[in-house]
Amino acid sequence: MKRREILQKLALTVPAGMMFPSLLNSCAPKDPPLKPVYDGKVIIIGAGAAGLHAAQLIKNQNVSVEILEASGLYGGRVKINDPFFDFPLEQGADYVYGNSNAWYNGIKDKGITLEEIPKKGSFVMDGVPSFETDLITKPDNDFINAQNFVANLKNYGGPDLTLQNAVISAQIAARAHHVVEGQVATPAGATYNNISVKGLSDNLKKWDGGEGRYFSTNQSLVQVLGSLYNDVLSLIKFNTPITTIDYTNPTNIILTDGNGNTHECTRVIITVPIAILKSGAITFSPPLPLVNTSAWNRIGMSGGIKVTLSFISNFWDKSSTSIYTEGYAREYYVPGIVRTNSNRVLTALIVGDQAEAMAGKTDEEIMLLLLADLDAIYPAQGGKASKEFNAADSYVFDWSKQEYIKGAQSYPLVSGTGAAAQMAIPIQDRVFWAGEATALNGNNATVQGAMESADRAALELFDVILDN
Ligand SMILES: Cc1cc2nc3c(=O)[nH]c(=O)nc-3n(C[C@H](O)[C@H](O)[C@H](O)COP(=O)(O)OP(=O)(O)OC[C@H]3O[C@@H](n4cnc5c(N)ncnc54)[C@H](O)[C@@H]3O)c2cc1C
Repeated sequence: MKRREILQKLALTVPAGMMFPSLLNSCAPKDPPLKPVYDGKVIIIGAGAAGLHAAQLIKNQNVSVEILEASGLYGGRVKINDPFFDFPLEQGADYVYGNSNAWYNGIKDKGITLEEIPKKGSFVMDGVPSFETDLITKPDNDFINAQNFVANLKNYGGPDLTLQNAVISAQIAARAHHVVEGQVATPAGATYNNISVKGLSDNLKKWDGGEGRYFSTNQSLVQVLGSLYNDVLSLIKFNTPITTIDYTNPTNIILTDGNGNTHECTRVIITVPIAILKSGAITFSPPLPLVNTSAWNRIGMSGGIKVTLSFISNFWDKSSTSIYTEGYAREYYVPGIVRTNSNRVLTALIVGDQAEAMAGKTDEEIMLLLLADLDAIYPAQGGKASKEFNAADSYVFDWSKQEYIKGAQSYPLVSGTGAAAQMAIPIQDRVFWAGEATALNGNNATVQGAMESADRAALELFDVILDN
């Protein structure tokens, strides 16, 4: 197939979210096998959403492709907790953001149920949880100002500041700062003193992935990935952590793994998290151009801990979908909502500085700190959370301790404008970049962002290797 036809298939003029089904179907079993159009071999490093998606696109063009994955599993930051409850309990990505993007459409195409999550947060103000409507009726003007700031973030036109400094400049009272932080910085994997307000605003302006937040109700997201990319799972070589990439030779690229084995290819797509790149876990020969590596310093990726707290019965308002607090976890969400009738679980998101502060603590210590926070918010009978706590079904999962991830999600730093595009510049038409940190449509830090980064990297590759 000619590049021109592939570009047509990628349908660059339609919203990115609509690309996915046509691409995956572009080599349906009924089609005659395509003739190889390129006799080289592509290696993809990492079997997360970006790596799987890129592999599928490349395989669809009948180009030889292999995925080298450091861990023993595919999915990367899409990961199920095992054992789980009567619904999928996700350790990484859980929300499907928006109803008009590749991820949402791909899941729907497989006939998997997605349920929209109602917007009903409880906000803790001065230690007391209330619904938004109650705080508006009261009225709590500090809360209202904070909510207006969140609602207008997309239109932010001020200087490039941290979100915290922007909130201070907007004269939001300190007692309501967590309302902004929990809704805006926490889902991005950052605390508000690190993330750029301009970066957040730019992302919102670029976002074209549709409305709403959804949960997959009956299948875990890693099962979903498995069924979407079933075709390429056999191309993954597991337990193969790449430690060096030597692209000195103009024809072949030599990759060495941590077991001392070498792998040869003609092109490589790197999809590992930016924290892995920053850590120096992979050495490049020759060293990467400064244009790529200097961009890494303008993109953040901090710690992220998901804590699953299970209770004998629920003590929070049954209709709350999230609880925004002033404590260690700025947001607790209710993973069972729309998935089960027995809502007994809260998932705490501890990110950024708060996650780093937990580094030396045991799982039990982390859970006790969160229970103390919840006891203070729900004080009846000396602490409802501690009384109702079911330790046997509660878990701590620290993403910064995962050797091949080292954090939560990428996020924009102050002065980070353009950094993702710069990081993603291909090197000598042979080394290509995908992965959520290189997503350019305001959707980094999401699964669909990872997939769209793979769309872009595959196009860049096809541009070079396929006949014009
Ligand atoms: C706690 C948490 C909550 C999240 N919540 C959401 C959410 O609700 N909704 C949403 O859309 N997104 C969410 N995300 C973000 C989403 O999970 C990621 O954006 C997406 O999964 C990233 O995919 P990726 O392919 O870019 O990277 P990854 O999934 O990280 O894949 C990279 C792969 O590279 C492998 N690797 C690393 N180093 C090497 C090496 N040296 N050699 C070979 N392989 C290597 C890793 O093992 C990994 O499998 C969340 C993430 C976290 C951590």
